[in-house]
Amino acid sequence: MTGLIDPFQRVIRYLRVSVTDRCNYRCFYCMPSQGMQWEERAEFLSFEELTRVIRLFTELGVDKVRLTGGEPLVRRGLLDFVKQLQALPGLKDLSMSSNAHLLSDQAKDLRAAGVSRVNISLDSLDPDIFRKITVNGDLAPVLRGIDAALEAGMHPVKINMVVMRGLNDGEIESMLDYAVERGADLRYIETMPIGEAGISGTDYYMPAVEILARLKKHLGEELIPAKGGKGAGPARYYQVGDGPVRVGVISALSRHFCDDCNRVRLTAKGDLVLCLGQEDRVSLRDGLRQGYSDDQIKEVILDAIAKKPRSHEFNDDKSKVSLRHMSSLGG
Ligand code: SAM
Ligand code: SF4
Repeated sequence: MTGLIDPFQRVIRYLRVSVTDRCNYRCFYCMPSQGMQWEERAEFLSFEELTRVIRLFTELGVDKVRLTGGEPLVRRGLLDFVKQLQALPGLKDLSMSSNAHLLSDQAKDLRAAGVSRVNISLDSLDPDIFRKITVNGDLAPVLRGIDAALEAGMHPVKINMVVMRGLNDGEIESMLDYAVERGADLRYIETMPIGEAGISGTDYYMPAVEILARLKKHLGEELIPAKGGKGAGPARYYQVGDGPVRVGVISALSRHFCDDCNRVRLTAKGDLVLCLGQEDRVSLRDGLRQGYSDDQIKEVILDAIAKKPRSHEFNDDKSKVSLRHMSSLGG
């Protein structure tokens, strides 16, 4: 059994793994500040179970894994888990998404253990606006975390900025300057209507075209698509001058990014989520805990991939918009 190919002939090579739904921040577009229903920790897949699932995915052709959350760095034992993953022969690319609050102390060890690159959420460079968006976040350790990732040799370090009109859109230009100074890539993200928090975030929706127009003005030139600027990911990338930095825009609402989707997601409790914007999911934990053999679990995975929908439904029918939280889906 090799190769994960969905009904639309898309080859699935990328698995995003949410290792926890917990987070030390409460970005208002991602989680409600109160009343969050956490999964029981006992429901989470253990790191041994996760390593087994990821090994099976690599045997089926997945070669790229991103650890995400919630905030992956709040789960104890993450470093040893990373070391186990690094030993999987089929895994070529191990990365992480983080808010970087706890990264400064861990970046070096994580890099040595095999996390080669990192995406970091940074919505504002103003401490007050940052705290307002993240609800209880603190900008200073995050900036230290970004510098530590760069010093540790993670490459690329990508900064993710969710752009919100009236909140942080005044920083589109300063964020680019900040990224360019450090040699970090930057991606501007449109708010996505995922979960109740995500739906409230769309009140501040700012479309990609406007962000691009602002960038063009700031740089004083046409934006040149970066080489390989439209890979299998959702971002379109542009060059910044002649330098190495790339700037991307992720536009979930205004442009379908599904045609070349190459990914599926695993939640902390072992649900395989087939599309960020649809409900379809299949439990892998049930089989794992019922003593399934490797081949039986691979069958469950293959059956699930055969159900991967063509595209998300963010635009189509607001009553169908998912009430799940982005924090359990891993972004
Ligand atoms: N805690 C980590 C972080 O913040 O990078 C990883 C998980 S977080 C859910 C992954 C990404 O999803 C972040 O870049 C975050 O900004 C983005 N995100 C969360 N909710 C979103 C929403 N409603 N619309 C757009 N992006 C969102
Ligand atoms: Fe936490 Fe990341 Fe969600 Fe912010 S975006 S609340 S840092 S999981």
